[in-house]
Amino acid sequence: MDRLLDGYRKFRAEAFPGRKDHFRLLASSQAPEVLFITCADSRVVPDLILQSEPGDLFLCRNAGNVIPPGGEMAGGVSATIEYAVEVLKVKHVIVCGHSDCGAVKAALDPTRGLESLPLTEQWLHFIKSAWDYMPPDVPDDPNERHTALIHANVIAQLNHLKSHPEIAKGLERGTLQVHGWYYDILTGDLEAYDQTQKRFIPLEQYAAALPAIR
Ligand SMILES: [Zn+2]
Repeated sequence: MDRLLDGYRKFRAEAFPGRKDHFRLLASSQAPEVLFITCADSRVVPDLILQSEPGDLFLCRNAGNVIPPGGEMAGGVSATIEYAVEVLKVKHVIVCGHSDCGAVKAALDPTRGLESLPLTEQWLHFIKSAWDYMPPDVPDDPNERHTALIHANVIAQLNHLKSHPEIAKGLERGTLQVHGWYYDILTGDLEAYDQTQKRFIPLEQYAAALPAIR
């Protein structure tokens, strides 16, 4: 807690004064272009990785960067998506998974007991469809297997995302794009899922081939 208080003092003394004008603009409205959905994992810090500022990212975080399919659950994720698309008119929705994701490991390893965590177990049920997106040659190596599952989960959640009516509408109109990302904690690398090549490629390469938004 002391560290947080020290951080707050530093923010008030250094970070805030330097951004005063920016905060004045943000005080009464926001217009983020991106809805960023990622895991609750403490090691994933979007504003650090992307060097984004307050007002840039509309954030939604939960264990396993899960997106329940459209219409299945009137929960926080679905409401956040609806608000971001219908009210904030975001242009991009990014689903970002990450290396060493405990939620994916727990959801996909039946030997890992979730008996004492009924709510977690129920939530992680939404990760099960990741199996449908595993490569045909599932790696034997446990680490590679885990990474393949995390990749597959990003694709699964991306497909859940597309089942939300407001997302489907935006995609059809060309006013919205959805993206699946993978963040590597060890290397700091970001990869994105290329839907044509059906594989993850470096983010810069992916971004260079992106069509413009209407
Ligand atoms: Zn995670």
